[in-house]
Amino acid sequence: MTAISRHLLPDTSKVVNGRLIIGGCDVHDLAGTYGTPLFVYDEAHLRARCAEARSAFGDDSVVYATKAFLCTAMARLAHEEGLLLDVATGGELFVALNAGVPASRCVLHGNNKSVIELREAMTAGVRHIVVDSFDEMDRLESLVASGLPAPRVQLRITPGVYVHTHEYVSTGQNDSKFGFNLANGDAQRAIDRARASQAMELVGIHCHIGSNVFETANFTKAAEVMVAFSNVCKLPELTLGGGLGVAYLNNEHAPSITEWASALRAATTGLTPGTKVFVEPGRSIVASAAITLYEVGTVKEIPNVRTYVSVDGGMSDNPRPVLYGSGYEAFVPSRSEEVRTRGVRLVGKHCESGDVLISEAMLPADIRVGDVIATPVTGAYGHSMGSNYNKVPRPAVVFVGNGVARVVVRRETYDDLVRNDVTDSV
Ligand SMILES: *Cc1c(COP(=O)(O)O)cnc(C)c1O
Repeated sequence: MTAISRHLLPDTSKVVNGRLIIGGCDVHDLAGTYGTPLFVYDEAHLRARCAEARSAFGDDSVVYATKAFLCTAMARLAHEEGLLLDVATGGELFVALNAGVPASRCVLHGNNKSVIELREAMTAGVRHIVVDSFDEMDRLESLVASGLPAPRVQLRITPGVYVHTHEYVSTGQNDSKFGFNLANGDAQRAIDRARASQAMELVGIHCHIGSNVFETANFTKAAEVMVAFSNVCKLPELTLGGGLGVAYLNNEHAPSITEWASALRAATTGLTPGTKVFVEPGRSIVASAAITLYEVGTVKEIPNVRTYVSVDGGMSDNPRPVLYGSGYEAFVPSRSEEVRTRGVRLVGKHCESGDVLISEAMLPADIRVGDVIATPVTGAYGHSMGSNYNKVPRPAVVFVGNGVARVVVRRETYDDLVRNDVTDSV
């Protein structure tokens, strides 16, 4: 029933005559200038979160998980702010290198890295590779035998910690596709093999227990398990992953990056002095930096059932509700302080009933066709997980700051939709 809560909006948000201003730009007007759907990122917010992480954890300790949101501008911003970049595919590595980020500031992840991806990372000279399986060790050994230099590696360990989040993003339990299980001895066998191998320089161990985790106690538990194992292995580096949750709804509250750092510091007091600790935040850096703007296209009221409000995007720009049942808020940025009294189902334009953005959204009573509406906290795993379903062109991304908006990813065109189609063989 209430207006949108301030803590869900980007840092520089303010309201002037009811209109939401981000980075000095009138949000409603951005929709007119750049079209909808549109991702609007507050650049100062992005930089502030990078700086907060860097000061909370220390220099050269924070690795931004690029899968949360990656484009050339974001790779450069994270690098400028002193973060390392976690890339999990050859494609993510390409975007980072192409943006000018040195390979020595990139870390390669992934549970099924191909020979080609490993070769690209080793040739470029990434800072380290987080090795995930014995099969990957086989591949590293044959690549080194073919003449490439042995990379520095950390080993991904599955610490056997179950976290309270959606099962699709819970990754630290024993039943997981990721990493070497601590409980069944695989972790120790992997350490032994890496130590004996000429094809890798073992520098540390790594864990990442899951994503959108709200309880710092979950991180504490995993960190304690990892500290004990790290001390036994006597390795110089320990990575504790990402996973800090963010608030998506008015009534949700998540720990800050600084609070997360305090919890991890407390949990690592027993670590052998001199061990370097890394973290890999993704969501907590970018999620609440952005909002998505849509235009309302239809308002369909079914008496005694519900009202459907359709917008010009949907599961192609934000698949999280469909994938995880994730909740979001919606509001009208030109009337951002108005109480929202009308319960509606906010849906996209795709050809399936499951294309729901918000199952029970609250909007102003007189919501109508042509209104620009916004969903906040869409900066992570929205654009990066988007698709061209129904041949809907991917939205543009703008960064705003100091009263200026700049397009950092242009809107796809119809030509982009047929760019890869091969017509001379038809
Ligand atoms: C996804 C991922 C992260 C980042 O997770 P967030 O929940 O976005 O902070 C960090 N490390 C690894 C290995 C990941 O897969």
